[in-house]
Amino acid sequence: MDDAPAIAAQTDDDLRAEVAAWLKANWDGSVRGGPQGGGDMRAYRAWVAKVVDARWAAPRWPVAWYGRGLSNEQARIVEREFAKVGAPGTGQDRTQLYANTLLARGTDALKAKLIGPILKGEITMCLLYSEPGAGSDLAGVRTRAELKGDHYVVNGQKVWTSTAATADYGMLLARTNWDVPKHQGISFFFLPMKQKGVEVRPLRQITNESHFNEVFFTDAIVPAENLLGEPGQGWSVLQTALAYERSVMGEGARGPRSGVAEATNEEPLIALAREAGRLSDPLLRQDIARVIAYRRLNALNTARAKADLAQGTSSPVMSLGKLAMSRILHEEARVRTAILGAGSLLEGPEHPRAEDANFLTLNAYFTSIGGGTDQIQRNIIGERVLGLPKEPEVDRDVPFREVRGG
Ligand SMILES: Cc1cc2nc3c(=O)[nH]c(=O)nc-3n(C[C@H](O)[C@H](O)[C@H](O)COP(=O)(O)OP(=O)(O)OC[C@H]3O[C@@H](n4cnc5c(N)ncnc54)[C@H](O)[C@@H]3O)c2cc1C
Repeated sequence: MDDAPAIAAQTDDDLRAEVAAWLKANWDGSVRGGPQGGGDMRAYRAWVAKVVDARWAAPRWPVAWYGRGLSNEQARIVEREFAKVGAPGTGQDRTQLYANTLLARGTDALKAKLIGPILKGEITMCLLYSEPGAGSDLAGVRTRAELKGDHYVVNGQKVWTSTAATADYGMLLARTNWDVPKHQGISFFFLPMKQKGVEVRPLRQITNESHFNEVFFTDAIVPAENLLGEPGQGWSVLQTALAYERSVMGEGARGPRSGVAEATNEEPLIALAREAGRLSDPLLRQDIARVIAYRRLNALNTARAKADLAQGTSSPVMSLGKLAMSRILHEEARVRTAILGAGSLLEGPEHPRAEDANFLTLNAYFTSIGGGTDQIQRNIIGERVLGLPKEPEVDRDVPFREVRGG
């Protein structure tokens, strides 16, 4: 992408007109769905590829890497024009965890090879972080990567790896130096998943789905150019990646699974209470009002955090988003169950409302555990936002080789 043309500065109005004209010429509204929404994946990918090639997918990014070097405000104009006609594919410079991490910390060779295909959805990824003995204490990873000539050889085990069964690459956290304290001996790789040394075993979840897996490495190979940052800098690369993951998790989560449409445009909890004939119950009314207020407040806080970030200042409110969303999802599921009363004990396709309530109750743990548990989020807020003393960590300054395994 080095021969990319420079893009002249534009006024907001010119930019708005350019996006609208491009959408008018290219978007016919026929592409539905996307990674989460079903639909025709081939048509969806073909559309996203078009958006990437036209440089609308990541307009905040540099021109050399698929972007237009736009300010956050101008990129929002692009996003609004896409939203107006319901076209997907833009805003990946805010939401695409893998591509953003690669852009920030990858080698040029790896960026040239993978950023385009990641943006276009042609290759899929997973997160190879957690291990049986290293979840909240992620710096305790014991999967090892040893440099042999122009590649690393990886041995060890990961767990809770979402989408590992289909992923082409995984962002891998592995130990490359055992003689330094735990945070300093970790490196961060893009590991090719489709190889003999990688074995993926599915796990069954509490929701009866099977999105995550155990992953075993036996002499798996990762080229040295797939290292992000320097050897031993993996912890700081991880912080870049985690910030993207948590900000996305703070904005939303999966909705009901039944696919039964809500009858009206009303708030779903109000519609449910009306349908169940419980809308005049004063206690339920208070519960519903509280959940809706939490949701609105969280949306406003998230918008405030983004405005702070756009002005170049970090925002303490950003750390609250994921924790807040986790509490909202648990509370919303509890209120759904309360509205249905004993009816929530039913299951099966003929009881879609009960199925939804039960699914949402169980799935709320996705946000309160994945990407860092609520307790860990509280520790982060306590230490980094409120300035409370740090948790004691006895193994922080000890060479990792001498740290006792759990
Ligand atoms: C839906 C889902 C998807 C996931 N996807 C992935 C993935 O794709 N890739 C991946 O690598 N991982 C993934 N994970 C794993 C997830 O990141 C870990 O489960 C999480 O970090 C917690 O680690 P753990 O399960 O080992 O729990 P532990 O760390 O063993 O924690 C157990 C309990 O102790 C508490 N605790 C631990 N330490 C402290 C502390 N210092 N202070 C206070 N309380 C503490 C925790 O909050 C928790 O309640 C996923 C998890 C879920 C639920």
